[in-house]
Amino acid sequence: MSNDQAQSFVITFTPAHPCFSCERLTTHAHVTISITAHDKYSSIDPHIDIRCPLHGYYGPDTLNGHTEQDALDSVARFVIWMHADKGRVPLVSSIEDLSAVPDYELDEGDMAWHARYEAPDGARIDSYVVYGVDEWKFFLYERGVQVTERREEVA
Ligand SMILES: [Zn+2]
Repeated sequence: MSNDQAQSFVITFTPAHPCFSCERLTTHAHVTISITAHDKYSSIDPHIDIRCPLHGYYGPDTLNGHTEQDALDSVARFVIWMHADKGRVPLVSSIEDLSAVPDYELDEGDMAWHARYEAPDGARIDSYVVYGVDEWKFFLYERGVQVTERREEVA
């Protein structure tokens, strides 16, 4: 008899390591611990998934132990990264109607969220984030247009 379960969590580490999807160095990883219970013992298999914030989407997934919160956290991490790793995202919620995202061309299977970004000076930007399933990465939309460049510094 076996009783499989998985747990996952995010770790930060140094030195930085290249993302598994691109050359970008990152210090974030998602660790999944799979536990398989046997009659007299259980085997534990760790899996480390290193992805930069652009590629690090962790959607709800029972196999990998990812929860809805993991998905929201990965969206927030991406938005903050796009803003030079400064500020915070106090609010993220998934949206069903992707046609609500301005400047986005509908592609079947993509997922979207509304995210509120708050800059260090308190200025707020209501944005949309899309995860492109074909591209395996996030896209950011602010003020009605897609943001294609990551901010190196907050103005
Ligand atoms: Zn990457």
